[in-house]
Formats: sequence, C-alpha cells, structure tokens
Amino acid sequence: PIILGIESSCDETSAAICIDGKIRSNIIANQTIHEKYGGVVPELASRAHQQNIIPAVEQAFREAKVHKNDVDAIAFTRGPGLLGSLLVGTSFAKAFALARNIPLIDVNHMQAHILAHFIEEPVPRFPFLCLTVSGGHTQLVLVKDYFDMELLGQTLDDAAGEAFDKTAKILGLPYPGGPLIDRYAQGGNPLAYRFPEPQIPGLNFSFSGLKTAILYFMQQKEQEQPGFVQANIHDICASVQARIVSVLLNKLRRAAEASGVRDVAIAGGVSANSGLRQSLLALGERQGWRVFIPRFEYCTDNAAMIAIAGHYKYEADDFVGQEVAPLARWAV
Ligand code: ATP
Ligand code: MG
Ligand code: FE
Repeated sequence: PIILGIESSCDETSAAICIDGKIRSNIIANQTIHEKYGGVVPELASRAHQQNIIPAVEQAFREAKVHKNDVDAIAFTRGPGLLGSLLVGTSFAKAFALARNIPLIDVNHMQAHILAHFIEEPVPRFPFLCLTVSGGHTQLVLVKDYFDMELLGQTLDDAAGEAFDKTAKILGLPYPGGPLIDRYAQGGNPLAYRFPEPQIPGLNFSFSGLKTAILYFMQQKEQEQPGFVQANIHDICASVQARIVSVLLNKLRRAAEASGVRDVAIAGGVSANSGLRQSLLALGERQGWRVFIPRFEYCTDNAAMIAIAGHYKYEADDFVGQEVAPLARWAV
C-alpha cells in the first residue's frame, strides 16, 4: 500500500510517503520561530504548521514520485503533543481522507518513535527493550509487538531532552540546546565535574534535581570567578551529558537484566546524542546485547515513523472514523 504520513505534534511539520513498507520521502519543516523564546510557543507552533503543511505534503509527493490519487491511506499523529499543533495535522488528514475516500489511520507519536526501527534493516526482534528519550518523554518500554507495548518505567518529572534543553538555557545557549550541548561536549572532559545521580527506585527516572544542581553550580562558580562558564563550556557540557547518559543507561541495564531481553533499542530526539550512542554501543558489547540505534533523521520528529506505523496498522485493518479527535496525552 501507499501511505501518506503526517506529523505535527510539536514544532516539526513533516510529511512522508511509504510504499509497501519502504520510505520514499520524508520532508521535515523545522520551525525556527521558537529559538528566540527559549522554548516552543504553542500558539506560534500551530500557526507555523498551518503554513508548512501543504508545501511539506506537496514536496513529499514530488520526491516520492507519487500522485495524490494513488494514496491508499493517510496516517497522522493523533497524540501525545500540543493540542493546537495536533489539530492541524489531524484536520488535514481527515479532510484528505474524506476528499479521496480512503481510510484514516491514527498513530501514537511515542509508539511511532519506537517503530522508526522498522524503517530499515536490521530490525529488532520482539520482544525488545526500547529507551525512548525525547523532548517530552523518557520511557523504558518492553515492545512485544508493533502495537503491544508495556511501559516499564518513565520520568517522574523532566524528560531527558528537557534536561538537555534546560541546562543549555542555564548556560545561555538557544533552544533547542540538546544538539549544542552534544557539540560542546566533544573535546570536553566528562570527568571534570561530578553532578549528582538521582536515587530513584525501580525503573523510573528523575532529572529535575540535576537541573537544580547545575543551576547552583553555575551561580556559585560565576560568583567566585566571573566568566567561569564561558571558559569551561566544553568540560561543563561533557560532564552534564555524561551524567544524563549514565542515568539513562543504568536503568536500561537494569531493565535488560530484569526482563532477560537482549535486543535493546533507543529512540526519540535524544537518541541523536553522540555520547548516548557511543556509551550504549560500548555497554551493549559488554552485555552481549544486539543494539539498535536509529539513523539521525529518524531520531527527532519526522513523518517517516508515522508512515511506517501507518503501514503496519493498514496491514492490520486498523482504521478510525471522521469523528476522531487529537489527544494531548496518550499512553504508549
Ligand atoms: P516528544 O516526542 O516527547 O513528544 P518532541 O517530539 O519535542 O517530544 P523530539 O523531537 O523527539 O521530541 O526530540 C527533541 C529533543 O531532542 C529536544 O529536547 C532536543 O534538545 C533533543 N536532542 C536532539 N538532538 C540532540 C542531541 N544531539 N543531544 C541531546 N539532545 C538532543
Ligand atoms: Mg521538536
Ligand atoms: Fe517526538
């Protein structure tokens, strides 16, 4: 089948074409308007989606060399995400399905981040473990089948991506700061400063304490020695990144030990982090895991993951009607 996928949950407007389970185009329009506000402004995001969605879809058709009459179904992100943003993609998908008289497929954005692993070989075998780390979520998921997922643990406060972005904000870096911290961390000493590791029982996470610790650390250092942060930015970023990565991987190792599962994956925007990717590969080697890391373009928000999820739902005849409405919150 030919599936058109639409993603509009946050600040990326994206459209993708999937033909028989293979991605043929994946157009992503990033919204730069939020940079100067230090975070995503929901009202501005939904307006930008309105402007970007038609051009993104048209380009996705052009690149895939597919005509809109040939689409068999349209898949869209129903949630979780910003309601005003989700409404743009949802309304577009409903109108497209109605006009072309084709089925409508609702996709859970957090499931789609995980299903991005089925875009390309090699694919993990069920059941596998997935650490989904993004701007709004930090989840440890046991993936039993395409749409049968069990949440083993999650963050009790900030997401891993938020920990990166808020640290960056404290350091005076623009939004989103995660990729910048990653870049500064290269060439820095990860052992230069020791930030506390939160003591959270079980498989849950917490990142708000780390953010506060970094804030106090910076204020104190700057007071003692003005210009300290600027002079030591590489070491600070490397140390913060190392701590976030160690928190994530310690829990992932525990989950693997407890479940006995040896196919281990990461997904979501933070899985683009080079420190996390390297440390996971090293850990996987020591533990005898098969490790799965998405290609960069499939880590952060994209419609290819929505289209591939749509493909598997299409195969299962899993469709929704025109009464469907977006969900700001939606369990994995
Ligand atoms: P969610 O998927 O939870 O709804 P989201 O869609 O906003 O949230 P993604 O687009 O999947 O999240 O990921 C964005 C997050 O990934 C941001 O917090 C960003 O800083 C972070 N990120 C992206 N690249 C990197 C990187 N190289 N290192 C660290 N963080 C990164
Ligand atoms: Mg985003
Ligand atoms: Fe996302």
